[in-house]
Amino acid sequence: PEQPPTAPTAAVVAGVAVDTRHWIGGERVPSAQTFTDVSPIDGRTLAEVARGGTDEADAAVAAAREAFPAWAATPRTERARILHAIADGVEKRVEDLAIVETHDNGALLRSHRRGVMPRVAHNFRFFADWLLKLEHEDFDTRGHTNHVSWDPAGPCVLITPWNAPLMLATWKVAPALAAGNTVVLKPAEWSPLTASLLADIAAEAGLPAGVLNVVQGYGAEAGNALVSHPDVRRISFTGSVPTARHIAAAAAANLTPVSLELGGKSPLLVFADADLDLAVDLAVEQYDNAGQVCLAATRILVEASVAEEFTRRFTRRAAALTQGDPRADGTDIGPNIHPRQLEKIHGFVERALGAGAQAVVGGGPDTELGGLYYRPTLLTGVEQDWEIVQEEVFGPVLTLQTFDTEDEAVALANGTRFGLAATLATGDSERAERVRARLVAGTVWVNCFFVRDLRAPFGGSRHSGIGREGGTWSFDFYCDVKNAVTAP
Ligand code: NAD
Repeated sequence: PEQPPTAPTAAVVAGVAVDTRHWIGGERVPSAQTFTDVSPIDGRTLAEVARGGTDEADAAVAAAREAFPAWAATPRTERARILHAIADGVEKRVEDLAIVETHDNGALLRSHRRGVMPRVAHNFRFFADWLLKLEHEDFDTRGHTNHVSWDPAGPCVLITPWNAPLMLATWKVAPALAAGNTVVLKPAEWSPLTASLLADIAAEAGLPAGVLNVVQGYGAEAGNALVSHPDVRRISFTGSVPTARHIAAAAAANLTPVSLELGGKSPLLVFADADLDLAVDLAVEQYDNAGQVCLAATRILVEASVAEEFTRRFTRRAAALTQGDPRADGTDIGPNIHPRQLEKIHGFVERALGAGAQAVVGGGPDTELGGLYYRPTLLTGVEQDWEIVQEEVFGPVLTLQTFDTEDEAVALANGTRFGLAATLATGDSERAERVRARLVAGTVWVNCFFVRDLRAPFGGSRHSGIGREGGTWSFDFYCDVKNAVTAP
């Protein structure tokens, strides 16, 4: 039903004011309809947020189109300067951004403060600096000069998920803007708020009107209208496989190039020659963000001879984790994002238990905490072809399988339709080299996890995605690379 034109336009989240309208062409734009944004911490309503559709998508793409020629023609050094000013603005507002994001998606406040938000600023600085290093290459062909240039592509639509909202959005926003493109960002409807703060910060930093636009709303409405728009020159998406299929089909109709960063079912391979305490640390780390991490190594594969000892140590370490309010400094694991997500997670676990799996750790929602808290869970006795081993759960649920040989380990590791990441723990560097060469994954970590350098390519193989982000790979996607050949 239509709401009166007095739909709410702002919210205050733990003392921080957030405009809940769209940001289109340098102006705040309301929608007649809104959607309710709820905090996973306690189920409290945080905000009524503008619910965009085709009109708002059209307006935002039109604004991005209009702003494109001037931004594309802005000297690189000036674009870089403005991106650094955005980074300054992010740094000034780290505390606000951290507080709002934690209330919005339930991830730990301390990691938002100390890790995530400073890295959001770094994303802008990194791509600003990388832009200045991109060479316009020249070379000679029988006296003719080839001049290769990195031309901006045009308006870009960026669609992002809720598990690390601002971090994942700015991996796209920063290189897209640096390249000279204009942007329409559609954040996830379960965590829409920090994107709005980013719009404020960018405007204050002097980013011209229409260069960055934020449209709020549901995927099937605002999102679908944006990815179907014929004037869009790039679509970059991070999210789930089913949504990626919709987006790829919509993009195909307009031949819009797409970058897809999708889900995973990554393995952690633990060989008998590994430092077992390190392997256990790496395994327990997979519960971070309540398991809502695309890269999470949720399939633990342990060499049979050390499986019992590994499980014993893992169980002890997992029992020491503190689950609770993500705002508390001592909390290790917060809530999951949404009742629907919790239901989905528990459905996976129940079906696995029904099929004969054992819950060595956890196995259900935390009845004491209530709400959206799911106990960190480890399931054993699972088979490779089971749903729990093949499908992404996106919750704090790990499985453990054993292997006897390196060949078997590699076969299990590669035995899903995904290929986002893999982690291996081994004390034998020759084995590490052999195994990493055989793994199908966009990123392989050896005796470490989550070490991420923006210069490195990031992305997934198979159903984990199409394309790579990071460094030159990002510019390769966001630019129309041109070769101009001039006769002598
Ligand atoms: P999702 O696919 O449900 O939603 C992601 C975004 O797509 C949201 O903004 C949503 O509104 C939008 N959307 C939904 N339907 C749409 C449509 N028809 N057209 C256009 N947009 C649409 O994913 P999610 O549940 O928000 O995120 C979790 C998923 O994201 C997991 O699968 C996870 O592995 C993946 N992920 C991948 C990476 C990576 O870098 N590979 C990083 C984080 C998360």
